[in-house]
Amino acid sequence: MSIVPITVCGDKILRKKASKVTEIDGQIVGTIANMFETMRNANGIGLAANQVGLSKQIFVVDISPVEGYEDYKPLALINPKIISRSDETIPIEEGCLSIPDLREEVIRPKGINISFYDVNMKEQTIEADALLARVMQHEYDHLRGVLFIDYLDDDMKKKYKKHLAKIKKRKLDIDYPISASTDYMLIK
Ligand code: ZN
Repeated sequence: MSIVPITVCGDKILRKKASKVTEIDGQIVGTIANMFETMRNANGIGLAANQVGLSKQIFVVDISPVEGYEDYKPLALINPKIISRSDETIPIEEGCLSIPDLREEVIRPKGINISFYDVNMKEQTIEADALLARVMQHEYDHLRGVLFIDYLDDDMKKKYKKHLAKIKKRKLDIDYPISASTDYMLIK
């Protein structure tokens, strides 16, 4: 297991739709282990594979560091699919390890049903609510090339334009390793 650089907004891989995992091989298992370690090192509670340079449909979630969610187990979701979303929506403040120092409220469905394959390629379905549903929807978006800032209105986008430019130019102090250039992509 090792801590690997996290891709940041501006990196092409974050805008590319990730491809499906067809086989759990050593590279996939190793990447998932690295994703957990990299996420925890950066104090994150969710991380998608394209955030560590692998354009595959995988994300990891561990909300147990958050107060009130200590009993929640870490999960690795392979080829996830949101089957249904609740009609009820709620605003929750989101952040993203690929977009450091920017947090804003986003409105999304409160609950979801999501199916996925675990590391043994066994299909599972989970009913997720509140914070867990939120993290999963955020990570699910990553696998489709969508970032949470895409949901901000034009005024907000304007407000953060300079900040995003700073991230893209690597002119921000970030206390975890990030990718070296915008072309960063291990697997094309
Ligand atoms: Zn994110």
